[in-house]
Amino acid sequence: MQRIESVQNAMEQAKQVSAAILGLPRPEPEVAWFWSDQFDVKLKIAGLSVDPDEIILRGSPSSDAFSVLHLRQGALICVETVNMTADFMASKKIIARGNKLSAAALLDTQIPLKALVV
Ligand SMILES: Cc1cc2nc3c(=O)[nH]c(=O)nc-3n(C[C@H](O)[C@H](O)[C@H](O)COP(=O)(O)OP(=O)(O)OC[C@H]3O[C@@H](n4cnc5c(N)ncnc54)[C@H](O)[C@@H]3O)c2cc1C
Repeated sequence: MQRIESVQNAMEQAKQVSAAILGLPRPEPEVAWFWSDQFDVKLKIAGLSVDPDEIILRGSPSSDAFSVLHLRQGALICVETVNMTADFMASKKIIARGNKLSAAALLDTQIPLKALVV
């Protein structure tokens, strides 16, 4: 059990609870996500970094856009993106599918993460 303090999680819980109350089919659960704008930095996080065994830096923190990918047993479980909305959007789908990924492909910024969504 984990308490997640974010607007998106509050909305997701409302969808799940209202479907249960009305006896409707459960909506497909959404991957937990969070965003915050800090001056010119757009921070977006998807998934939960629980027991990652590999952390991959995609891009460079010295640039104004990079992502940090958290993997467990070869599967992406969490991404933290800084001014990298495309990585965030693709990662959300990759996390939901739970497929295994090659670290080399994740490190290669020439390969868009959306190309790894299967
Ligand atoms: C300083 C701060 C910054 C945050 N920044 C972010 C952020 O950048 N991004 C993000 O995703 N999340 C952020 N959060 C978290 C986010 O605001 C909460 O997770 C979210 O608002 C929870 O939604 P909720 O509907 O469960 O509760 P709330 O938004 O707290 O709504 C509960 C409502 O119920 C009302 N209420 C309470 N008791 C009663 C009662 N007895 N009778 C009638 N009405 C009652 C309250 O007045 C309130 O309007 C932040 C929170 C704080 C405090």
